[in-house]
Order: sequence, then C-alpha cells, then structure tokens
Amino acid sequence: MSTQTSPRLLVIGAGPAGYPAAFHAADLGMSVTLLDLDPHMGGVCLQRGCIPSKALLHIARFLEECREIEPIGVRVGTPTIELDRLRDWKQSVIRRLTGGLASLCAARRIEFIQGRAQFVSPDEVEIQTPHGTRRMPVDYALIATGSRPASLPGWPTSPRIMDSTAALDLPDIPKRLLVVGGGYIGLELGSIYTALGSRVSVVELTDGLLPGVDRSLVAPLQRRLGRRFEHIRLRTRVAAVMPEADSIRVTLEGPDGTQEETYDRVLVSVGRRPNSEQLGLDRAGIEVDERGFIRVDERRRTSHPRVWAAGDVAGEPMLAHKATYEAKIAVEAIAGRKVAYEPRAIPAVVFTDPEIAWAGLTQSEAERASRPVRIVRFPWSASGRALTLERTEGLTQWILEPESNRILGVGIVGVNAGDLLAEGALAIELGAVADDVAWTIHAHPTLSETLMEAAELASGHATHYLPSSRS
Ligand code: NAD
Repeated sequence: MSTQTSPRLLVIGAGPAGYPAAFHAADLGMSVTLLDLDPHMGGVCLQRGCIPSKALLHIARFLEECREIEPIGVRVGTPTIELDRLRDWKQSVIRRLTGGLASLCAARRIEFIQGRAQFVSPDEVEIQTPHGTRRMPVDYALIATGSRPASLPGWPTSPRIMDSTAALDLPDIPKRLLVVGGGYIGLELGSIYTALGSRVSVVELTDGLLPGVDRSLVAPLQRRLGRRFEHIRLRTRVAAVMPEADSIRVTLEGPDGTQEETYDRVLVSVGRRPNSEQLGLDRAGIEVDERGFIRVDERRRTSHPRVWAAGDVAGEPMLAHKATYEAKIAVEAIAGRKVAYEPRAIPAVVFTDPEIAWAGLTQSEAERASRPVRIVRFPWSASGRALTLERTEGLTQWILEPESNRILGVGIVGVNAGDLLAEGALAIELGAVADDVAWTIHAHPTLSETLMEAAELASGHATHYLPSSRS
C-alpha cells in the first residue's frame, strides 16, 4: 500500500500486540489511532504481568541466593523486606516503560485515546471515552484486546482470593498462601511469595506441574520447588472455599482423600480467557471459536476483510512475544506485503528458579504425533560454568530429525535458560543441523557451551560428557 493513500488504521488494545502494530503501521506511513481502556500503553504484560512479575522474581532470586550462599561460606544474614519501597520500585519500573512508550507514540504522531471500542456495524466503531462518545469509520482495524485471568465458577468474592493482578500488587506477605493451578503464573508467583517468606502450597488438577511441558525439563524444577514449597498436591481440586474473618478455609480433594486447610490468601491461576466479548464482533460479522478466540487466517485477518486480530485474543500460545510478532505480520499484510504467520519456533520461558525454556518441537508434541525424533541431552553437572554458580541441576536438550540431525526443537532447564534460548530458536528458524551448533565456537566458561556440547552428542561424543552407553 503506498504512503500517499495513508490508510487509517484503528488499533484496539495497546498491549504487546497493539502498540508494536501501531508503531509499525505509523513507520509504514499509515495514519494510526491506538485505543486502550487504560490511560497508559503496555497492556497486561507491562503493567500487570510480565514486567512486574520479572521485577519481583529478580528480588526473589536475590533472596534465595542470600540463603543458598551460606553453606559455601558467605553469611548475609536475614534480609529485611520493606514492602512499601519494594512496591514503589516495581511501579517505577512500570512508569519508566510506559513513559517511554508514550514518547515513542507521540514521536510517531499516533493518536492515542483512552476508551472502549465497539463495532456498531461492519463499517463503524463507537468509542466511549471519559469525555464522551465518538464514532469512527473502519478503514482498517486490528483487534488486540488480550486476555484476562480465568476465574473458577461458584467461588465467593473475597479480598483473600487473588488473581495474578492482585497478587502482583503485593498487598502483604501472607503466612500461608495456596496457589490454585501449577502453570506459568502459579509457579512464578508462588516462587516470589516463597522467597518473600510465605509458606506456599500448590494444588494442580493434572498429574504434573506445567502440563504439556517436557517432563525432563520440569523434573529439576519440581525437585527444587518440592523443597521450597510447603506442599505440591497433584491430581487435586479445590472442592470448597470459605472466607472467614482472618483466614480462608479450603477443602481439597486429591489422591489422599479430602483435606481441610486454612490459608491467609489464595491465588487462582488456572489459565486466561480471551477478551473478545463487548466488542460488538457479531455486528461486524467477526467470528470467534468455541473458546472465544477470534478466528484468523495465516495473515491474521478475521472473517471481516478489513479487520485483523493478533495476540492473546487471536489464540494460543498467550505469550507477549508471539503477540508482537503476529501483530507486525498483520500490519505488513494490511500494507499489502506478501507475508504469513508461520513461525517454526515460538520461544516459551517459565521464569521460575531454575527457569524452563523451550522452542520449536517438544518431546511431548513429537510423542503425541508419533513423530520419530532423536533427543540429545547434556546435563549441567558436566558444565564448569554451572559448577561455579553452584547450579548443576540444569539440562540442555536438542530435538533432532533422526536422519539428518536437523534441529527441530530445543529445551533448557537451568538458571538463565530464558536468555540461552535465543540461539536455539535461531537454529530452528535457520534450519540448522546439530553440527552447525557443535562447530560454532562458544565462549568459555559460559552456560551457552551446554548448547554446543548437547549438539556434539548428536555425533555420539561431547568433550565433557560420555553418554551412559559409552561410559
Ligand atoms: P496455565 O495454563 O499455564 O496453567 C494453569 C494451570 O492450572 C494448569 O496447570 C491447569 O491444569 C491448572 N488448573 C486448571 N483448573 C484447575 C483447578 N480447578 N484446580 C487446580 N488446577 C487447575 O495458566 P496460567 O498460569 O494462569 O497462565 C495463563 C497464561 O499466561 C499462560 O498460558 C501463559 O501463556 C501466560 N503466561 C506466560 C508467562 C511467561 O511467558 N513466563 C507467565 C505468566 C503467564
């Protein structure tokens, strides 16, 4: 699309899908209006998700390290936590980022409006702002309204029952915290509260933490959390919840029968739901699937020819970086470029300690599809760098195509796994084979060498590790 026509793009939602889309569209010469319910840009990720949780996980890691360094000869003493200052610092991180986005938005001459959008017809959107209502014709629109925490039906409302947003506000440090749901959010927030001093229990409906993630990657995390959390109850559900004056009573049903426990707070982290209601989608002929995700094609176009959707509202996985990527694809498509959303590798990181990170094909996916794969694993107990960090529980694995050793997937568990993952994602996107990584010089001593040595194992030997078949 030429810049002379300057098509008008309305972007609904200013999270990790919406604001990069708006910025990219403005950079391509479109005239852009960006809309959000919140007065600030950044969405859940920046304001109530990824960023505040990572700020607090940074503190949690420091607190855990203070504890763990004692046996090797450094006594730090018991750190004192000033919750008000901690909260203020976390908010200041958010403020700096939202401020930066506002400047970038203004510099691109994007119109940012706080308001709620609703389609009134396929051709018109009504925008309710704090100052009144206005209507906008739909030249092009991108829906990027994200998702919200799922709640459990029939549960009472109580300040003691928190979702991730409430938990990130750090109302206090509860003595006993129950986390319902052993997924990304439950384990990240459970780790934060454990480090701050809460006794944390997790109940998970399925038979393992982080369902769907390769068990070889989850095992080291589960072992560590097993020592740090008060209880990890699998195959367990909450049968009843009763808020009381100064606590909350919970009935748990699991393999050991029914148990009653009392907690100070409960965190519900049982997944997220797409924000596709209240947009008037039916009036615009925009279809959603049975779970509420907007149906999109490979260019992220909805069933409306001039409306696109990206991010959590357009389907799983609900990850900020996937949202940004597909939003930019959508904008490129609106600009008339020949593009499609076809990533070979979507990185995923669980920011616990140790972190779990993977991209591309997983072992569980290969098993479900009965797809033959070759898996090579390098244990961090054989890594000099891991030893110097006193963190040898990690593991790096490649999932390979058996005949060619082409890299199909990567999985890492260990400290900083999330930062190590990028090399794996790039290898998959470039169609690299194990030898490409094995014969790339990796700096010594770094954890990145575990990627190289795991790749060496594809030829049956690695410098610092002999597979059991040879030892
Ligand atoms: P999740 O899907 O990761 O985990 C939810 C867990 O709750 C699952 O293990 C599920 O089996 C369990 N569960 C469901 N109903 C239950 C019940 N009644 N009782 C006990 N357990 C129950 O969801 P989440 O942790 O809420 O996170 C939501 C989404 O947010 C994730 O899918 C992820 O995409 C995104 N997220 C990503 C990150 C990250 O990238 N680091 C961090 C947080 C959230």
